[in-house]
Amino acid sequence: MEKIVLLGDEAVALAAVQAGLSAAYSYPGTPASEIMEYLLRLSEGGKNYRAEWSVNEKVAYEEALGVSFAGKRAMVSFKHVGLNVAADPFINSAITGANGGLVVVVADDPGMHSSQNEQDSRYYADFARIICLEPTNHQEAYDMTREAFDLSERFGIPVMVRLVTRLAHSRSSVEPREPRPQNEGRPYGNAQDWTLLPANARRRFKVLLDHQNSLQEYSEETNYNQLVLSSKGKKFGVVVSGIAYNYFKEVSAYLPLEPSYLKVSTYPFPVKKLHQLLPMVDEILVIEEGYPFIERFIRGVSDISGKTIRGKLDGSLPPSGELTPDLVAKALGLPERVGLKVTDIKLANRPPQLCSGCPHIDTYKALNEALREFPRGNVFSDIGCYTLGALPPFQAIKTCVCMGASISMAKGGADAGIYPSVAVIGDSTFAHSGITPLLDAVYSNTNMTVIILDNGTVAMTGTQPSFGTGEPLDRLLIGLGIDKNHLKVIVPLPRNHQENVKIIKEELDYEGISVIIARRECIQSLGEKKRSPK
Ligand code: SF4
Repeated sequence: MEKIVLLGDEAVALAAVQAGLSAAYSYPGTPASEIMEYLLRLSEGGKNYRAEWSVNEKVAYEEALGVSFAGKRAMVSFKHVGLNVAADPFINSAITGANGGLVVVVADDPGMHSSQNEQDSRYYADFARIICLEPTNHQEAYDMTREAFDLSERFGIPVMVRLVTRLAHSRSSVEPREPRPQNEGRPYGNAQDWTLLPANARRRFKVLLDHQNSLQEYSEETNYNQLVLSSKGKKFGVVVSGIAYNYFKEVSAYLPLEPSYLKVSTYPFPVKKLHQLLPMVDEILVIEEGYPFIERFIRGVSDISGKTIRGKLDGSLPPSGELTPDLVAKALGLPERVGLKVTDIKLANRPPQLCSGCPHIDTYKALNEALREFPRGNVFSDIGCYTLGALPPFQAIKTCVCMGASISMAKGGADAGIYPSVAVIGDSTFAHSGITPLLDAVYSNTNMTVIILDNGTVAMTGTQPSFGTGEPLDRLLIGLGIDKNHLKVIVPLPRNHQENVKIIKEELDYEGISVIIARRECIQSLGEKKRSPK
């Protein structure tokens, strides 16, 4: 078929569709959001298959698992920290097993371009004892995603595809293959397998353990892993994985002798191939993006006495951040390439900031003024555009840890005597994981105030739909037990400033739990609607 130019995320999405996908679920998060966005475009309004944003990653995972149990092919995609949210069903689904192909695409973010950590999802796949596929380029992202569905059905387990930012968000040509139709639904297996009562769980866990040899055999045999033994460079070898393979190939041409190397693209780690490489070399450089996953594995499982293993653990490569061809060249002992110096161009400093006219600006101005009378208070925040309220000129918030944590931490703060204890959370984040902590705080009638910044969208990741906005949000809060007299709605606009300060002060003064909804649409999503009204 004709080649097309795709983002790494889009290559994954197209592969899933052409592998006979029946349903896909996701929660927005950079750098994985474009997978679902492309799936939504290709689905032509849901005619071809289901493609949906879910309320959070755990829900997305469980929806995909339900499709798999029903015998159809399903994919779930999210960013690396999304897998923390979905960890419970993810780990347990390795034990229940999959029926229809179940593919979990996780996009890691080394360098934390838009994340609060740079955890490496390969550890999760290892923890769950399933296969992980790590493409090195866009074509492999396409091919491996297709193969992941087959592997899932062949071994009866979920299969992970691990991307990183630089692959997810770059474009390259991809040659698609013949699309396959959706299946009619594979027959149900033994329902007992899916019911993890201890007796069933023990039996199923043994099945998973018994499968490990087959997974290992697959990894040893697949052509995605390549061992290239050089007759010239006998002393030095390289083990390289993922996107870093491209950097290695780019710079290794400048080495005087071509080293032997093992390209690793599937896990469980292909141990036999490593054992073929080891006798050939005295020294191995491990080049991988993320944590020193392979490096630790090599040090842990192989007889490496007398050999030098280099990588992130010995400082040959930096322990965090993205790799680059220059970093790899340096680790290979190549001279540093000196680029042209930019000296005379004065570039404006552009720190991230809230858009001009953003509703959060007016909320933070009112909150800051209201809090002037309460110097011992604290504002616990959450994850969204509003996290930028930590920066000047607002400096309105004091925490940001993980999705939904603002409300739980504000409760903990109030329990420890902080007054006023304030939580700031967006409407989508509240739906994602703020509801249960609020229920907890209502149950204890904690003396705290929750401000829900209802801008009607998931703004930070590209204005995807929100599950917790507008009038249904008001009803939800009443249903959770918030006293109607202490559920206030404000409109964050400059002209309402004094009124908003007054309302916030009143609720900070109230002894008990109160919720203020600051409701005004994100100006970016408003602009999009005006440009293309539905
Ligand atoms: S995208 Fe929307 S919510 Fe985010 S900063 Fe801009 S206006 Fe505010």
